[in-house]
Amino acid sequence: MVNIQQTFKAHPIGQGFFYTGQLKTKNSEFNFIFDCGSLSFSVLNDTIDRYRAIQSTTEIDLLIISHFDADHINGLKRLLEGKTVKKVVAPFIGLDQRISILLNFRGDFDQIRPSNIDPKIDDTFLSIIDFTEALKDELEGADFYFVEGSDNKPLDPNYAINIEKLTNDSGEFDFNFEGNESLNDDEKSKLGFKSISGNAFKIKCHQIGLLTSGAVNILDLIFYKKKLGEQENEFYNEVFNSFINENKKCFKDYNIPTSEELISTIKKYKGAKKIKDLFIKAAKKVEIDLFIKEITNLNTTALCMLHFDRLHHFCLNSKNFGSIRHIDGNYNLIQVYNKREINNPLIYGFYHYHRGFWDGYLINSNTLLTADSFLKEENEVLAFLNHYNFYLDKIAFFQIPHHGSRHSSDILLLSQINSSYIFINYGVNHRFIKKWSHPNNEVINNIITTGNASKLIPVHEYSGFKLSNEIHFM
Ligand SMILES: [Zn+2]
Repeated sequence: MVNIQQTFKAHPIGQGFFYTGQLKTKNSEFNFIFDCGSLSFSVLNDTIDRYRAIQSTTEIDLLIISHFDADHINGLKRLLEGKTVKKVVAPFIGLDQRISILLNFRGDFDQIRPSNIDPKIDDTFLSIIDFTEALKDELEGADFYFVEGSDNKPLDPNYAINIEKLTNDSGEFDFNFEGNESLNDDEKSKLGFKSISGNAFKIKCHQIGLLTSGAVNILDLIFYKKKLGEQENEFYNEVFNSFINENKKCFKDYNIPTSEELISTIKKYKGAKKIKDLFIKAAKKVEIDLFIKEITNLNTTALCMLHFDRLHHFCLNSKNFGSIRHIDGNYNLIQVYNKREINNPLIYGFYHYHRGFWDGYLINSNTLLTADSFLKEENEVLAFLNHYNFYLDKIAFFQIPHHGSRHSSDILLLSQINSSYIFINYGVNHRFIKKWSHPNNEVINNIITTGNASKLIPVHEYSGFKLSNEIHFM
């Protein structure tokens, strides 16, 4: 008999995001991290230290970075210290866009209380501009996979993988995409990451990430990133060029600005107004008015990820069951953190499968993480739903985008999501920041209106959730 234990956690860290997954058999272990950052530093540090205490492995198999906002990456250095990462998945976001993200973050300083300013702010700046440099030792020799914007090529609903029967549990976990194409020199220079010592590939949204154990496909990681329009790309390019032009004398060679030069120049910017003016000027030049309204919401390209349990998939699909394997028993347990300790079981689900008969109550572990994606405009929502179309009725947990920002989700999205649970990650200690007020009342209203209120799990400084799941194969 083979047992696979799965654990997924949305950690309680406040305004930011920190999500981890672990799969374990008797002989093998696979750990992934999806973002690690927060503007509540003491809570973040405390949670990271707890994770490290439990998770003593020195190898992280997979690091996924949804995007380069500080509240998603500023914990990575502490989290990964002394560890090595084998594979990294990140969105294909060029240096010009990352400079806009950093300028935007710099502009936010007026709104954040000084006590909340990161004491290691230089590390955070560097992580935004070039995480490969900020995490150079930890990422040494890792393979990088950069996910490009979706070209709306649908996922194959019937894709099949040749699976031999699971004979023993000696198989090691392994993660790979279906087919890899290396980055060419142009793409490499557009990205501008300076410290990639391993392989670097580009990934399209319809290429599925496959986690296997031995010959068996255990988990699919299905990514999605919105494709930027030409105007949006021009806008980022324009911001970057005018920023460099305005500050030419700060660079030794302004054609190849170093990270240190970029950081020290941006640090000299005082106040949000100068940055806002730079954005407005660029928006006017490329004749785009979107950014003038939403000037502080620039991160339009975060990566979404669905982790999808292939074992359930095969069980649920009558075409496949029986011929693949028997699953003898399976339980899922969802626990919520209460005052930062996990001790409060919320739901307990059990099902038993025997020769094709189902019994009991099934909760799967399929979770769709949206990070800070913008899923507001009708075309954005429809493209996103279309991408995950085949999976939508099999999702247990859905993350409300962008900490419940009103700029990032809409009633159309919420009415189409019929997951068992939804969650919002936000900071209760940051509600005072008027500009964000995450989660927004309008979004909460939409959640109530669409009948999702009772499904809501809050994830903040004092609350998170853990989903554990054990599968036995005969
Ligand atoms: Zn965020």
